[in-house]
Amino acid sequence: MDAYSSLRPPEPSQELEPCSCSSLTSVMIYPHFSPNPLICRACSGEVAPERVPLEPGFAHRLGRWAQLQDAFETLWIQAEEDEELEHLARDAQENFKSALNQRGYALAQELDKNIDCYYFLFYDVTGAEHDPPEGCPNCSQTLKPLQDANGFRRKQACHACKIVL
Ligand SMILES: [Zn+2]
Ligand SMILES: [Zn+2]
Repeated sequence: MDAYSSLRPPEPSQELEPCSCSSLTSVMIYPHFSPNPLICRACSGEVAPERVPLEPGFAHRLGRWAQLQDAFETLWIQAEEDEELEHLARDAQENFKSALNQRGYALAQELDKNIDCYYFLFYDVTGAEHDPPEGCPNCSQTLKPLQDANGFRRKQACHACKIVL
């Protein structure tokens, strides 16, 4: 970091270790500031895309979606005191019915035909504005504890809809 760092290209993100499981049984679409939003549900590591059986064109669509998600994340961070921008960015990410989430969830369901695939639904845990949802945003059923993700912060899921909250 120096006085000019904001005008230079960003450092590559190294937030998640790569998945090193010998076999891959379950994945999750989990945006984490990487072009590839796929993580392994067993170890929470990023999954190399070539390890997942993907239909032609799917990787491209998933990558485009990750860029869109990233744009809303950036909007939120950059909105600062602008409430209108902040609301727009927050709603796109937290509201399951938003175009962003509907498109992301459709990708998860498509991938689920090839490999068990969950969808991570973001909500802001830092703000005291509202509590995390109590029921599944898709089917309203009570959420169940999520025990199979090592060190993963979120602890609830609807296993029928394959949504993690
Ligand atoms: Zn793994
Ligand atoms: Zn559900």
